[in-house]
Amino acid sequence: MPFTSLGLSPALIAAAGEQGFATPTPIQAQAIPAVLRGADVLGSAQTGSGKTAAFALPLLQLLQEGPQHTPRRVRALILAPTRELAAQVGEVLRSLAQHLPQPLKVAVLFGGVSINPQMMGLRGGADVVVATPGRLLDLVEHNALKLSAVSLLVLDEADRLLDLGFAEELNRVLALLPARRQNLFFSATFPPAVQALAEGLLREPVRVHV
Ligand code: AMP
Repeated sequence: MPFTSLGLSPALIAAAGEQGFATPTPIQAQAIPAVLRGADVLGSAQTGSGKTAAFALPLLQLLQEGPQHTPRRVRALILAPTRELAAQVGEVLRSLAQHLPQPLKVAVLFGGVSINPQMMGLRGGADVVVATPGRLLDLVEHNALKLSAVSLLVLDEADRLLDLGFAEELNRVLALLPARRQNLFFSATFPPAVQALAEGLLREPVRVHV
């Protein structure tokens, strides 16, 4: 199945091509149409499956189609367990977004570094935030960003988020989000705590396995 049959815009297909993505991976072929039609998605996916582009491509398309705000408001939030993963996801989003007719701003926020540059980077808002949960909460507490306009939430590597002890922070973040939103949930493993988290978050999810 070619990328052109998944419902993505020409700008995103071109960007995928520039990344060397000739055909969608199985998880992309399953997840992209589901995300584009607004469904929640439960993805059982290992690193290397192409899961990042599986959520990044349709996320960017939905944001392009949705209402734009001035200043920018955070409409998509991706939570990741580590700074490395957050940085990597941010890079993928930026490369895939580079040909979009309306530029989208992607902010990457993680702990272990000074908070001030991240606060400055959020002036003027952001359309997409990729963050580790603790630093995200710090920035909300500093009034550097608001989460009240988030319509799309992605949990990336949910099992590692829980393994690293982020359950409490995660719940605090979830409490700040509008109840009406689309949720995408990716995990490599599904022990009981991860299953419970997914069941609490997702509404009639499309299940994607690879
Ligand atoms: P991920 O599972 O998101 O960590 O991606 C694993 C690797 O696969 C990354 O290096 C991607 O650049 C690459 N990749 C993702 N989608 C595709 C695709 N459709 N075709 C070829 N490579 C891909």
